[in-house]
Amino acid sequence: MSELKSKSDVLVDVRNLKKHFSKGKDIWGRHTQVLKAVDGVSFQIRQGETFGLVGESGSGKSTVGRCLIRLYDYTDGEVYFDGHNLSKLGEKQLKPFRSRIQTIFQDPYSSLNPGMNVLELIGEPMDIHGVFKGDERKDAVAELLKKVGLKSEHLYRYPHEFSGGQRQRISIARALSVRPEFVVCDEPISALDVSVQAQVVNMLEDLQKEFGLTYLFIAHDLSMVRHISDRIGVMYGGRLVEVAPSDELYENPLHPYTQALLSAIPVPDPRVASQRILVNNKIEDYGSGSDEAAQLREVSPGHFVAGH
Ligand code: ADP
Ligand code: MG
Repeated sequence: MSELKSKSDVLVDVRNLKKHFSKGKDIWGRHTQVLKAVDGVSFQIRQGETFGLVGESGSGKSTVGRCLIRLYDYTDGEVYFDGHNLSKLGEKQLKPFRSRIQTIFQDPYSSLNPGMNVLELIGEPMDIHGVFKGDERKDAVAELLKKVGLKSEHLYRYPHEFSGGQRQRISIARALSVRPEFVVCDEPISALDVSVQAQVVNMLEDLQKEFGLTYLFIAHDLSMVRHISDRIGVMYGGRLVEVAPSDELYENPLHPYTQALLSAIPVPDPRVASQRILVNNKIEDYGSGSDEAAQLREVSPGHFVAGH
């Protein structure tokens, strides 16, 4: 089961990734239950591509993202980055990958230290990874600020002096400060006003072109993700149930869960009623449950669906 015929352009290769959390203890302190947050997920992301990951809250999207950057050790499976098996590396060997892979999170306020000004916030990762020093570093930070639509006069201001959209721009500059190749964007626009969401998405696209970035773009609503993603994977209960090129997924969703998710997109025209297709028990036949059901099957070129 491989989505791509040629492996040469694959930057990120996730193979049967599992992340189980223990929850609940009995009176002897033994874990009684296992929460299968991610339960056998495989996909690949090509160089320069944006791979969207969608699914309702709790479906395991962030856990996949955290495993990719080894914020979590995983229960099983492998993650290859540029041909290197990250699952096998110790903290010291991982260090170069900690700059090649960066993340942008949903809430820019909690991910920015309120006691640091913009120069320090964006300069800190450069220091950690030894990218620039002294005046060179300040010039590089000012240059990056411009690229994310802020000004050099913002260098000495603190996070609370900015709007949510501006704070997310600072987080993006911070992520890009170490010249990453791959950026995990975990709901980077979900906390922003609708009016600035499109601006930030457009900026991420411009930066992708300029720096040749590859994105994993996690979202729980589908309206923006179609626009930015080349291909999209749909997660349900810790598993991928469908993977397809964006337009194909929206025009021809095959899995009942994908159909349900798409039908929940808010429809701007009030005359067009949004019809939410109910997810019925059939989903059981389509993906959850057995390991065989978790396997994706190619039904048309590049379009994969779980089960049956
Ligand atoms: P999503 O990003 O799709 O909303 P998450 O990956 O955050 O989903 O969570 C998937 C499941 O894993 C949820 O049931 C969540 O409660 C659980 N989970 C996530 N992180 C942890 C953790 N650190 N410890 C225990 N359970 C977790
Ligand atoms: Mg999440």
